[in-house]
Amino acid sequence: VPSLDYPPPIQRLILQLKSLPGLGPRSAERLALWLMQHGDDRTEPLARSLLDLGTLVEACGQCGFFIEKGAACLLCDNEKRNARLICVVEQAADVLRLERSGAYRGMYHVLGGKLSPLDNVTPEDLSIASLVTRVQHTGSEEVILALGSDVEGEATAGYIAEALRPTGVPVSRLAQGMPAGGALDHVDELTLFQALQGRLKMQ
Ligand SMILES: [Zn+2]
Repeated sequence: VPSLDYPPPIQRLILQLKSLPGLGPRSAERLALWLMQHGDDRTEPLARSLLDLGTLVEACGQCGFFIEKGAACLLCDNEKRNARLICVVEQAADVLRLERSGAYRGMYHVLGGKLSPLDNVTPEDLSIASLVTRVQHTGSEEVILALGSDVEGEATAGYIAEALRPTGVPVSRLAQGMPAGGALDHVDELTLFQALQGRLKMQ
């Protein structure tokens, strides 16, 4: 006799939810049942938002931040920003954190992660080659590495500094006030502001 389980559509939803970061099997099950109980009022807008991600949003070809498909990039296409200053971050969310600190008016470059041998993340998986090309072609005056101070963040910063060395462009990094081992999302805006102001030259 097969053991009793939820009908396949619910099982499939639980399987999908379970694969999301931060959701274990128990919370995936709880969420699926909650959605089931609340019906179309909740599930339809949610499903539409998920589909919209794929059809309406894409990454800017230059900086990697999100744009609505076909629209101009609010960062790259803003002439009031300093195009010769490039701030390198791990994730798109870090862009907003730095923007909210109010300390920065240059351009950004989203790497899409950090080097991590354990997770098989190599330089080819990150947008490092396009960063080097970008720095070479825009006459940059400085590249600021706003990466986490954990082991992977440090390794990534070191690798990028080395990759940029032939360009001769000065490279600096956040230091002051950054908690040891912390990623950018654990840092408040004032600390980020100070870390940007007090950035240290790497080369
Ligand atoms: Zn952009």
